Amino acid sequence: MLIGEKNADSNQNKNNIKTFDFIIVGQGLAGSVLALKLIENNFSVMVIDKPELSNCSKVAAGIFNPIIFKRLSKSWMADEILPEMLRFYKEVGKNLNCKLIIKRNIVKLFSEQQEVDLWHKKANGELKKYLYKEIYTENHSQNIKQSEFGFSKVTESGNLNVNLFLESTRKYLTEKNSFANEKFEYTQLITSEKIIYKEFVASKIIFAEGYLVKHNPFFNYIPLKPAKGEILTIESNDLKIETDIINKNGFIFSDKENQFKTGATYNWEDLNDNTSQNGLIELQEKLKKITVADYKIKSHNAGVRPSVIDRRPVLGKHPQYNNLFVFNGMGTKGVMLAPYFAEQLLNYISKNSELNAEVNVERFRKYLATNYTN
Ligand SMILES: Cc1cc2nc3c(=O)[nH]c(=O)nc-3n(C[C@H](O)[C@H](O)[C@H](O)COP(=O)(O)OP(=O)(O)OC[C@H]3O[C@@H](n4cnc5c(N)ncnc54)[C@H](O)[C@@H]3O)c2cc1C
Repeated sequence: MLIGEKNADSNQNKNNIKTFDFIIVGQGLAGSVLALKLIENNFSVMVIDKPELSNCSKVAAGIFNPIIFKRLSKSWMADEILPEMLRFYKEVGKNLNCKLIIKRNIVKLFSEQQEVDLWHKKANGELKKYLYKEIYTENHSQNIKQSEFGFSKVTESGNLNVNLFLESTRKYLTEKNSFANEKFEYTQLITSEKIIYKEFVASKIIFAEGYLVKHNPFFNYIPLKPAKGEILTIESNDLKIETDIINKNGFIFSDKENQFKTGATYNWEDLNDNTSQNGLIELQEKLKKITVADYKIKSHNAGVRPSVIDRRPVLGKHPQYNNLFVFNGMGTKGVMLAPYFAEQLLNYISKNSELNAEVNVERFRKYLATNYTN
């Protein structure tokens, strides 16, 4: 049980009307984190989600990495975001009785001397908190290609077992009558002083539908730039990687004995959850650069990352409706971003505190159309 929770049963009156503080639409990473945060703060929630509509969170590798390798720089707000991320998933794991976070070093295989020199400079300077200083030459993983330039490691990294997190959260919400497995129909939403949706009445509604926010008549003005991603789960008896995440223009790590996750691709055009032949070829090419091991493909999955044009999260209140909110734009980094910004949204709603201007949905007001279908 989470601290300070209210039981949804107590909110049910004789007419079968169920009242809540919040309705949340979507139980991907964003909606799940938000729901648990609200419950942790003693609010009652009803989460409405049809899991089949979007695969994004379900297929995610769940990696958190404070470093952007392309420019060898710190990931946006990593220093602020990481502590809350670790605290949150650890607390949820304790309450839901599961181990959600696995700390792993990210092993960066170098492709050229320039990369090594830059690493040296940053590991002794601005990124010393996150980068190992040593450059290693001997790789203890089995059948990982040796790089003539060696490798080094990122610390404060790892991965969230996303599926376990989503499933445990759904089970928990279901047990407390706070989950409805159905498609949310925007035309059935009544917005007045209260939010009324079928038998549910709430003070506020928060939309967390990932890239499917494009169908939301209230928030479809948010300028999305979604990116489809494909990922493989492979089996191999020849490959041994302990707990590290190996990275060279792609990643691979072991999530079970003789089983590995490897990815991922980026495609800004083919925006659906279907896997593609091109995606498969690209993933196999990436893999070839990392390992010489034989493997068998166990599954091939795809999802659409909810990125927006400025690649920052999007949260806050609708410009015209005081009880409509959005929590979206987690892009490629939902695992790291969601806990910190769910807390920020919660404080904004309950304590009237400021939102970071870079994430506030207000920044997109100029895209707002005046006519609503609702
Ligand atoms: C291949 C791949 C690998 C990735 N790897 C990582 C990684 O290693 N680390 C990381 O941090 N991030 C990763 N990501 C990104 C991460 O998955 C996203 O940031 C995150 O999952 C977005 O979560 P979300 O809840 O906003 O969206 P979604 O996961 O899309 O969740 C939205 C939910 O809302 C539901 N929904 C939508 N509309 C309706 C409706 N009308 N009615 C009912 N339900 C509705 C959907 O079914 C879904 O359950 C990866 C993504 C992909 C595709």
